[in-house]
Amino acid sequence: MIIIKSSREIDLMRQAGKITAGARSVARQMIEPGVTTQQIDREVHRFITKAGATPSFLGYGGFPASACISVNNEVIHGIPGPRVLHAGDIVSVDVGARFQGFHGDCAGTFPCGSCSDEALKLIEVTRQSFFEGIRFARVGYRISDIGHAVQEYAEGFGYGVVRDYVGHGVGAQLHEPPEIPNYGKPGHGPRLARGMTIAVEPMINAGGEAVYVLDNDWTVVTGDGSLSAHYENSLLITDGEPEILTFADDI
Ligand code: MG
Repeated sequence: MIIIKSSREIDLMRQAGKITAGARSVARQMIEPGVTTQQIDREVHRFITKAGATPSFLGYGGFPASACISVNNEVIHGIPGPRVLHAGDIVSVDVGARFQGFHGDCAGTFPCGSCSDEALKLIEVTRQSFFEGIRFARVGYRISDIGHAVQEYAEGFGYGVVRDYVGHGVGAQLHEPPEIPNYGKPGHGPRLARGMTIAVEPMINAGGEAVYVLDNDWTVVTGDGSLSAHYENSLLITDGEPEILTFADDI
């Protein structure tokens, strides 16, 4: 069942979203050659807890960290550790924070030092595919209208749209119905309604759409070793344009 949030719940989600977006900004600002993914995770944890929230991902399904940090061919669910970032890497950071019972969830891919034009283009197209998708995150459209727009845009650049992982409702649970694929035919799935809160999160590969999970049972990588990028925000469906709950003007 898709949960319509009350105005009180929406207010808490705004606060959770603000903290979550702040944590993503903290991570982004730390990305530079020589930094380890574990150092970034520690600062994300510190920021979220200092804000009076708890990291949504820590312990979720047994995940061992506060942020998912996925580098280059890693799509999502990268586990922070001793890995040192190098110039030319692209770094996807996914964070979640729970504040007074409600979650925010957002992600972004950022360049480490100077990156190839191909890598920068993948990052920008992935980000823009989110904004193409959320043009349809409005009352009256259906869930698949969002993913259809994401797919059309990203595939127009010859990129692969990941099928195996999808966006989702977000609220008192980190993952709530409905699922929000980043692909598909328009006009399918539940109708969007005011008060729904959803996380839209295109995962776009420079090569093919296929992915697999590493032996650590978490980290998803591209099947062909190509680069991958991710962009996500939590949204509120309103009477007009969607409100981005994890908004940051620099990301
Ligand atoms: Mg998510």
